[in-house]
Amino acid sequence: MGFIDRIARSFLLSELLAGLGITLSYFFKSKATINYPYEKSPLSPRFRGEHALRRYANGEERCIACKLCESTCPAEAITIEAEERADGSRRTTRYDIDMTKCIYCGLCQEACPVDAIVQGPNYEFATETREELIYNKSKLLANGDQWESALALRIEQDAPYR
Ligand code: SF4
Ligand code: SF4
Repeated sequence: MGFIDRIARSFLLSELLAGLGITLSYFFKSKATINYPYEKSPLSPRFRGEHALRRYANGEERCIACKLCESTCPAEAITIEAEERADGSRRTTRYDIDMTKCIYCGLCQEACPVDAIVQGPNYEFATETREELIYNKSKLLANGDQWESALALRIEQDAPYR
């Protein structure tokens, strides 16, 4: 760029005006960001969020205590204890997930033959203490009760691709 050219650009503020033009053009484009937490992005049905234990429509727990999720978990985050009921069915007496160990791989959900343990759409479960991230059976069943309609819909939407 020649000396005269540089002087002309400085006096005419052409580079400044070009920059302002680019800024102005972005006023009329759709935003790339969202105003979280007031706005939220859509989630895939395969999004792997907080865990939940589901029930059947009659209220019975789906989990049959087969322990496939426990044995497949690469982080050894799941602990299950089980016993036989009077009617001969097996149910868990203890179902814990240490969420501080969990790596959200989704293998527990993949392994479950009855869609009992699932990872739901909730990602807003930050806590103030580590203890609150040790989920027991009551907490997981409560999650299932709270999110059941969304969980059932996600499984239905994902079914054609499995
Ligand atoms: S998502 Fe993966 S790491 Fe977390 S509990 Fe399930 S199997 Fe374990
Ligand atoms: S959650 Fe599923 S895989 Fe895990 S013990 Fe229960 S039935 Fe078996």
